[in-house]
Amino acid sequence: MSNTHATPTSYEISVGAACKRLGYGPTIESLLSLAALELKVEIPIVRDNGELAIFTGYRVQHQNVRGPCKGGLRYHPDVDIQEVRELAALMTMKTALVNIPLGGGKGGIACNPHEMSQRELEVLTRKFVKRIHREIGPNSDIMAPDVGTNAQTMGWIHSEYSAIYGHSPAAVTGKPLALGGSPGRNTATGHGIAIVVAEYARHHRMPLKGSTAVVQGFGNVGFHAAQALAALGIKVVAISDSRSAVYRDGGIDLAALSDQKHARGSLKDTEGHDSLEPDALFEIPCDFLVPAALGDAIHAGNVARLACRIIVEGANAPVTAEADLTLRERGIAVIPDILANAGGVIVSYFEWVQNLQRQVWALETVDAELERLLGNATREVLAHAAGADLDLRSAAFDIAVRRVKEALEATGL
Ligand code: GLU
Repeated sequence: MSNTHATPTSYEISVGAACKRLGYGPTIESLLSLAALELKVEIPIVRDNGELAIFTGYRVQHQNVRGPCKGGLRYHPDVDIQEVRELAALMTMKTALVNIPLGGGKGGIACNPHEMSQRELEVLTRKFVKRIHREIGPNSDIMAPDVGTNAQTMGWIHSEYSAIYGHSPAAVTGKPLALGGSPGRNTATGHGIAIVVAEYARHHRMPLKGSTAVVQGFGNVGFHAAQALAALGIKVVAISDSRSAVYRDGGIDLAALSDQKHARGSLKDTEGHDSLEPDALFEIPCDFLVPAALGDAIHAGNVARLACRIIVEGANAPVTAEADLTLRERGIAVIPDILANAGGVIVSYFEWVQNLQRQVWALETVDAELERLLGNATREVLAHAAGADLDLRSAAFDIAVRRVKEALEATGL
């Protein structure tokens, strides 16, 4: 982010442009570009083979003016401070855009969870919490699942944090249901994607029946997004995981793919589906392309070959700044991450509220509130984009930046 590298990040470009349109000065722009707090910790653990290994963990708290910092914890070999910083800042914009009383944060540990045992992951997670517990909690910084982590990881965080501070379920979200997790949290990001797509289609009077989608990613977001898009009547013709991709003209069979993935660890050779190279996925003609895996999936090297009409950013930052410009030139619409994947953090907010109030909501309540909050935010972005003749990312950043700036101002800054 600011002053740390030569080329501005996609986030910096979006915030800078929004500040310019809104007439905000350099102080606000700097405040929105810099993180409030950055933690880096070294975590030694004894591996199952008896050897000592040291992992580096990060937690970045970007902004807390609208509420405690909120955001996921990512386990992936490529995690570094630069990435965590940008993802933390995006969370500030996401929570502001959907207007929930939370700020932005993100964490990560550079590790490969697929090559680690459950015991190793548990020790690593618990040690991470031991190192950073003074900085996190229900009123300061609340972690949640992200790439490479899940409800079990959050369960360990909850247990470790509660061992120090007493039972504190509101200190972390995305927990197992048995530990105070919210109904509907696991599917929330995927379902949110479908809510946003449905609203977009309504606005553009675009019939969804007969439209097509391609999904990159078979993790929590990709899988549930594919399921929810299919429930809208959209034909999902292709999907990929990190090593393989499959296509089926009549629409993929998610149940069969899920069985194959569990049995063989890969989608490859699922009966009734054609196997593709994962790279070929983006070249399939479709209405909606949903990158729901890692950042920078759509870049200068592949953007010219895309054959979709609309990109729906299921992942965080899946389009590079350079590719974003090309997409605008090519007239491909982009529904930005801070809107498209906000379903997860919205239901995390519901989980936090339930935990603070010692309540348990029914799944129907969670679903209806998710639809209401995300539907409102989507309509607001679409209306602002149409009124000010802006692309959707710019419109979303205008709304989010204005909300954070107004909060900063209200504190007397
Ligand atoms: N990791 C998710 C995101 O990027 C969820 C964050 C949360 O629930 O706090 O939005």
